[in-house]
Amino acid sequence: MNYTAISPYSILTWFHARMPHPFAHVTPLMLYIHWPFCAAKCHYCDFVAMQDHHGFARQYHEALCNEIRSFVASRPHTLGAPIKTIFLGGGTPSLYPLPLLKELFTLLRSLFDLSGVEEISLEVNPGGQTAEHFETWCDVGINRLSVGVQVLDDAILAKLNRPQKKAEVLEFFERAPHYIQNLSADCIIGLPGVDDACWQETVETTISWPLKHASLYFLTIHENTPLYHGVKAGTITIPQDEAVLSQYAWTVARYAQAGLAQYEISNFALSGFESKHNRGYWNQIPYYGFGIGAASYDGLYRCVNKKKLTGYLKHFVLPTADPLLWYGSCERLTHEQQVLEELMLGLRQREGVGLHRMVYLCPLFQSQVLREIWQRLVGDGYLEASQTHLRLTPKGQIFENEVVVQLCGGLEGDHQNCARPIRQNMNKIQKV
Ligand code: SF4
Repeated sequence: MNYTAISPYSILTWFHARMPHPFAHVTPLMLYIHWPFCAAKCHYCDFVAMQDHHGFARQYHEALCNEIRSFVASRPHTLGAPIKTIFLGGGTPSLYPLPLLKELFTLLRSLFDLSGVEEISLEVNPGGQTAEHFETWCDVGINRLSVGVQVLDDAILAKLNRPQKKAEVLEFFERAPHYIQNLSADCIIGLPGVDDACWQETVETTISWPLKHASLYFLTIHENTPLYHGVKAGTITIPQDEAVLSQYAWTVARYAQAGLAQYEISNFALSGFESKHNRGYWNQIPYYGFGIGAASYDGLYRCVNKKKLTGYLKHFVLPTADPLLWYGSCERLTHEQQVLEELMLGLRQREGVGLHRMVYLCPLFQSQVLREIWQRLVGDGYLEASQTHLRLTPKGQIFENEVVVQLCGGLEGDHQNCARPIRQNMNKIQKV
């Protein structure tokens, strides 16, 4: 009898052929690049971010470049793809060493077509920037800065292990507009120790800057963060929901007076300065994410890279490494997931969700049961409906999760869940 030897290589090939191949035929229009190092790890943060790892900067940069090369090598149709937006996030990508940042952009320009790029954003934590930082950022093409302000109070931030100083932030916003005018200030509402006076002073100060954009995030208490343990042990007290919701309503109104119109639940901009990259996410434009923990989406598959730094450095030590083997998860979205995403992302935006589009995606959207649910939500002041769109009212924005749950219950025929009134005390803060 003849036996054919099965080599490890043929087993790998067999598995490989059966793995999901995101971007097999699609080209990304947006790129996300993750820089995971920070000056310190903030106590509320659950991002892929680490302190005391700056010694790995060069190695990480080289692995990142190899991941980008291997992505293009494994999908040759993406070579020269016309990229519309790039977002450098983190972590703290403003700590990206400048000579390495230049190398990164040289590589990107050699592999993709950046001649039509509309927006290159960099997340910045103010402090320690020199003229060389601003000049290099401009040279490589960065044209938008998303600046982490959080709240302008040194003592409150210090308790959260965030070393940033108010004076550094003020100085940053004096210098930055000389180089880059498209500036966003990103604040967190609901941090422990922030009272109305402190919050209003923060908002008034941000409005005095030449901002084009502002982001306003509710504090989320993520499990296994020092903040989570502090709240659980009773050593940290977070503000009452009512106080946070009233600060939120006040801020939305104050931003509107300053010309920063709300175009998404957490985002405000002068007309024409809405974030193109984030809008791309919400409108489900294909994007590819490079770096540890980065996510990618090609219209069908959503994949997330593994988060381990040492594994990443080993895996992408050569540009021939297989990017498919570095996904921590890669799932093909079901039709139901696509409908749900479109509903959630649409409702978060000022325009709302297009009714014709939803009916096209999901004929059930015109079912009697769903119509009754949304008419009730309209009657209760959570939604407003036009001939073409369904959108959240200001009250609905606060209870957004619950509104979506009820609409989805209607789609699934879950009458019990949808008949439930929205709890008045439900809040946006994920409690421990
Ligand atoms: S600077 Fe940003 S990414 Fe880094 S630890 Fe703080 S919140 Fe997380």
